[in-house]
Amino acid sequence: MLRCVSCGKEYTDKSGKQICSCGGPVESEYITGSVRRGEGVWKRYGEFLPCDLPGTLSLREGDTPLIKSEKLSERYGLDLFFKNETVNPTWSFKDRGTVLSLQRALELDAERVGTVSTGNMGVSVAAYGARKELEPLVLVTENIAEEKLMQIDAYGPTIIKVYGDYGELFYKSLEISWDNIYFSNSNSPYRIEGYKTLAFEVTERFVPDYMIMPTSSGGLFRGVMKGFIEMERCGVIDEIPIPVSVQAAGCSPIYRAFESGEKSIKRWKDPKTAASAIANPYPPGGNEVLRKLDEYGGLCVAVSDEEVLQAQRMIASEGIFCQPASAVGVAAVDQLREKGIIEREAEVISIITGSGLKKLDLRRGEVDVVSCDMSGLERCLERELER
Ligand SMILES: *Cc1c(COP(=O)(O)O)cnc(C)c1O
Ligand SMILES: [Zn+2]
Repeated sequence: MLRCVSCGKEYTDKSGKQICSCGGPVESEYITGSVRRGEGVWKRYGEFLPCDLPGTLSLREGDTPLIKSEKLSERYGLDLFFKNETVNPTWSFKDRGTVLSLQRALELDAERVGTVSTGNMGVSVAAYGARKELEPLVLVTENIAEEKLMQIDAYGPTIIKVYGDYGELFYKSLEISWDNIYFSNSNSPYRIEGYKTLAFEVTERFVPDYMIMPTSSGGLFRGVMKGFIEMERCGVIDEIPIPVSVQAAGCSPIYRAFESGEKSIKRWKDPKTAASAIANPYPPGGNEVLRKLDEYGGLCVAVSDEEVLQAQRMIASEGIFCQPASAVGVAAVDQLREKGIIEREAEVISIITGSGLKKLDLRRGEVDVVSCDMSGLERCLERELER
């Protein structure tokens, strides 16, 4: 059963419905079950999935490392961990959701899959779609960077560049979803179900005090929260972490509504941020993120590009190169510790959502290299290493 998170209207699973007639996202009802032992997150949590296991579709997404950040824990007086999603098959957490929504598309006998994306989602759907001969179709916006197009194109999908508003394209794509084409967009119900596995894995280690989530459309936030809620309902955990939703200041419609105590988001005009992967100006899951923040005493933070790029360097100092959109979590920790909102010694997990290799454009011309002749190497080293 699918239910609208805004008005409660119900739809059958077969309906393939993604957005309610009221405009709210539809979501699979809460699932209870028991955790099995064994290899692979899909197997262990098979009872919590609303469709069959990904089977031959899977490229072994998930089961990603939880890494303690020694330096930043020390710096902020916390126990800070990174859930490193950069090691997924297409280098972002999107794969967890792509697998489940494409599995669903196969069960619905879709002949094609589509997505609306400016980056990671397009890459992920193109990869898995190609694997199952689902003739992936990726709708991109006019301002997409060449670098990102190349990543998507590597898997050979049909790419259509659509001139117009990105937020509108999301709804438009669902209108044009015919019976044989299934759109796996950011808030697709089965995508959310796939994202739950991230929370499930976390509970196998411990339940943090705070769970930090970079937020754009709200899909990741919704999936992770649903995962924790289901684990609590089954008695696997006693408490749900305090959710922290982080946005880029240059495109922060959820933060703006949260700060002014409003219950619904308004479209952000003119998004401008280095964290392009989280720049959805009209997030379809935004109102639901607001409701969940309210219900669970959550926090919402906006961070500047400057803070983000500094955070990206700090995360790299722990050996993880992430994209700016993934560094916002650490930038938020910086603010929240500064203001004393997160208490000392709290256990905090920040999701490192995607790899830095996906966004190298900002670094062009920034690389500082010294050069010398072979014969001058010794002298060069003496000079350089003394610095
Ligand atoms: C998609 C994405 C996000 C945000 O996820 P939403 O589900 O849209 O909120 C964050 N970071 C990266 C790297 C992403 O690709
Ligand atoms: Zn509704």
